[in-house]
Amino acid sequence: MNAYAAPVSARRSGFRELKVAGKVRESATISSFHLEPVEAEGWRPFEPGQFLVFRMPARGGGFVLRNYSVSCSPESRGRYRITVKREAAPSADVPDGVGSCYLHDHVEVGDILLAEGPRGDFVLDGESKRHVVLLSGGVGLTPLVAMLHALAATERKVLFIHACDNGDVHALRDEVEMLVASRPGMTTHFCYRLPTVGDRAAGRHHSEGVVTRELLQRLLPLDDYDFYLCGPPPFMQAVHRALRGLGVPKQRIAYEFFGPATVLEAPAEPVRVTPPPPALVAAAGAMTVEFRKSGHTAAWDPTAESLLAFAEAQGLSPDFSCRAGICGTCKSRLVSGEVAYFEEPLDEPPPGEALLCCSKPRGSVVLDL
Ligand SMILES: Cc1cc2nc3c(=O)[nH]c(=O)nc-3n(C[C@H](O)[C@H](O)[C@H](O)COP(=O)(O)OP(=O)(O)OC[C@H]3O[C@@H](n4cnc5c(N)ncnc54)[C@H](O)[C@@H]3O)c2cc1C
Repeated sequence: MNAYAAPVSARRSGFRELKVAGKVRESATISSFHLEPVEAEGWRPFEPGQFLVFRMPARGGGFVLRNYSVSCSPESRGRYRITVKREAAPSADVPDGVGSCYLHDHVEVGDILLAEGPRGDFVLDGESKRHVVLLSGGVGLTPLVAMLHALAATERKVLFIHACDNGDVHALRDEVEMLVASRPGMTTHFCYRLPTVGDRAAGRHHSEGVVTRELLQRLLPLDDYDFYLCGPPPFMQAVHRALRGLGVPKQRIAYEFFGPATVLEAPAEPVRVTPPPPALVAAAGAMTVEFRKSGHTAAWDPTAESLLAFAEAQGLSPDFSCRAGICGTCKSRLVSGEVAYFEEPLDEPPPGEALLCCSKPRGSVVLDL
């Protein structure tokens, strides 16, 4: 048995023990873990779309924190299910994903995991009466399957659109089809990028390629919908743009981004601000970036990739996740000055705030960092 020894502080910090009651292979790369609290009060209700935060051993000591959405029905009292993709290394010179490979390769039925939550505000608006479109790419379907469970018990019209490579990596397909068949008014559309011969023969997908504006236009009769999106960055960018291009107002589009969880990792030591390299000490009249909270000012380096990269080069550690203008984690208050976006953020922050990962200063700026 591979129980991860819970530190004594676990309970005080809100983490509690969940026992693995089932491990189910859902596709070539995705498995589900059914979890039951060791102590009865360890189960807390969740809203469809929310996630749990898991504390797992890191290679070489310490621990990592990783988020996994609850993929079962919110009516599953006393149990959670998470559905996890094994994030293998993209090339031989980098390590496999820490958390997902720990779960896939080392965690078995009977083991104990430490989890906190449920958390997150990417949740189904249960008050709305509008039709719903659930749009997912890859393992991004997990929170949307929980939403589909909740929606099956309503009368709202639902379209569940899922994009993935092919039937081999298509998780929870039978469950989605069963839910959709449980009452009229719910439909699916599966879009495979690289369908196999078997997929074609069995008619497992409805369209081939990627989700485009044309596909969405074809699938969505003119109406007012609530959209929920979850998937990898290129999927999110393409689908968000397509929906906006079709005239869907921003406030109708809710999304979650499964970014890398680096930002959640507790730093081993307090972050120290190192002095700036001498070449970057501000000359009179130069364009400067002041990090107000850190009490540090430096001349802007025009070769810096972004304000985030510049802050890091100065020894600061702002929170970040996607580094692609999608997740909003690196948002900072702009005390003064202006920034220019070299990459359009998915959701442009309001005046007075800036997304550091995809912007550069227009002149001298003061950031609340
Ligand atoms: C709100 C939220 C909900 C989520 N829900 C789910 C869910 O339901 N299911 C799910 O599967 N995931 C989910 N995720 C993603 C999940 O939290 C993890 O980010 C994911 O499992 C990867 O974590 P990991 O520790 O396995 O990989 P990491 O260790 O973070 O590595 C990620 C990838 O980078 C590669 N890598 C490592 N080092 C390098 C390097 N030096 N250079 C290049 N590449 C490198 C790894 O091989 C791996 O492929 C969610 C994320 C969020 C934010």
